Amino acid sequence: MDSLARLDHLHLWHPFTQMRDWLDREPIVIVEGRGAVLRDSRGREYLDGNSSIWTNLHGHNHPRLNAALGAQARRIAHSSALGLANEPASRLAARLVSLAAPAGGARPPADPPAPRLEKVFFSDDGSTAIEVALKLAHETARRLDDRSKPRVLSLDGAYHGDTIGAVSAGHIDLFHQTWSRLLFRTDKVMAPYCYRCRFNRASPQRQDARDYRRCGWECLDEVEKRLERGRKSRNPYTAFFFEPLVQGAAGIIPQPPGWLRRATDLARGFGARLVADEVMTGFGRTGCHLVGQAAGSATPGLFACQAEGVVPDFLAVAKGLTGGYLPMAATLTTAEVFGAFLGEYEEFRTFFHGHSFTGNQLGAATALASLDLLEGRASVEARRRLEAALRFELARLWDLPQVGDVRQVGLVVGVELVSDWRRRTPFDLRERAGIRVCEAMVRHGVLTRPVGNVVVLIPPYCTMPAQARQMVAALHAAIRETLGT
Ligand code: PMP
Repeated sequence: MDSLARLDHLHLWHPFTQMRDWLDREPIVIVEGRGAVLRDSRGREYLDGNSSIWTNLHGHNHPRLNAALGAQARRIAHSSALGLANEPASRLAARLVSLAAPAGGARPPADPPAPRLEKVFFSDDGSTAIEVALKLAHETARRLDDRSKPRVLSLDGAYHGDTIGAVSAGHIDLFHQTWSRLLFRTDKVMAPYCYRCRFNRASPQRQDARDYRRCGWECLDEVEKRLERGRKSRNPYTAFFFEPLVQGAAGIIPQPPGWLRRATDLARGFGARLVADEVMTGFGRTGCHLVGQAAGSATPGLFACQAEGVVPDFLAVAKGLTGGYLPMAATLTTAEVFGAFLGEYEEFRTFFHGHSFTGNQLGAATALASLDLLEGRASVEARRRLEAALRFELARLWDLPQVGDVRQVGLVVGVELVSDWRRRTPFDLRERAGIRVCEAMVRHGVLTRPVGNVVVLIPPYCTMPAQARQMVAALHAAIRETLGT
């Protein structure tokens, strides 16, 4: 066994991994990356089919990001945000605020006016960005709305991270049930999942279920009913958490166009603040949506919320913030929320929360370079090209009877495996269908991880059309080899 693999086996505990299985085989030890390609300690190369768990944007070892990181390291790597400001964090906060703005009024002026995101709280990863939003939303409801017991509503299948607050807002029993005694209560409401929706009267077809569904938007009625029940209980929901356009860890579950706007309008109408978890969807992942006066807007919006003109009260970003280079996250919020924490020192209205690495310079400098790339014409074109290439290649998966649904939102793809597509029969999780298919993909030179029975492709934006073809071909071959009859 490779000496590094041996050290790993001796001492490492891997996330979301059954370590008995892990210890049964020699792990791949990644030593290098370039663009969309990862190289292991034995010199083998793989395509990074999930952008290193949905983080990487522009490819590995990017000269511009390397240069920004190196230049910052030569000045200073880190100084504390407790009591001190720093250059890249200040610039990054301003840049995020301007990118999150709806760019010239995507929607007619609202009454009351839509909030504006103008304050940025930095933290370390997706979970901490969500914790910040949770605490702020909770305390703002207590202070401004006089709610003694603020209530959170989130979506069925939601995943917002693994810290205790984020787990409380999540609704994936497999991950979250174990910790139930540690959690506080949140409620869940139906999320749109057209392929398996009990209200979808269409029988299965060989296309994305969103396109052939037959329903009357009953999923939105469910949201409304739940909010109404909250109001009647005299303790209405104060915060509505959602992943906009597509839920990731729930199984890459896209929302049909229009759902996001309508669901968030409903939640706001019932007095809840909106918490958009763009940890996975942010920074162009969900495609090149035009914002503002579409025709006049040269640069597409970088956030999924902007696709439907939704301005949340909290916007949590992480993963892609630094282009996937460093752990850094941000929670954007409004002047209203910020104001709830202002006061005389001795009133102790301070937001007593923070992390040692809040506002870290290396992360912020790299994030700024990543945003420069994202806003450049070359990146926009590359993303459009890759989205089209994936759409074209994915069509060939429909000839496999073990493929039930193929869902694509921009550069996010989920392929749901089933044992009988005519009945949408799922594989029992114990059969490890998704895991086995991904293991077979490794032999075809593509690395990715499934969520349950859904194989995920979330490639770096630099992935060339030929590499996209290779990813889909590997998936096609792996399904045939593993699940073929
Ligand atoms: N929110 C969403 C939507 C996510 O996909 C994830 C991670 N997969 C998180 C939050 C948590 O992020 P992290 O793993 O960086 O804590």
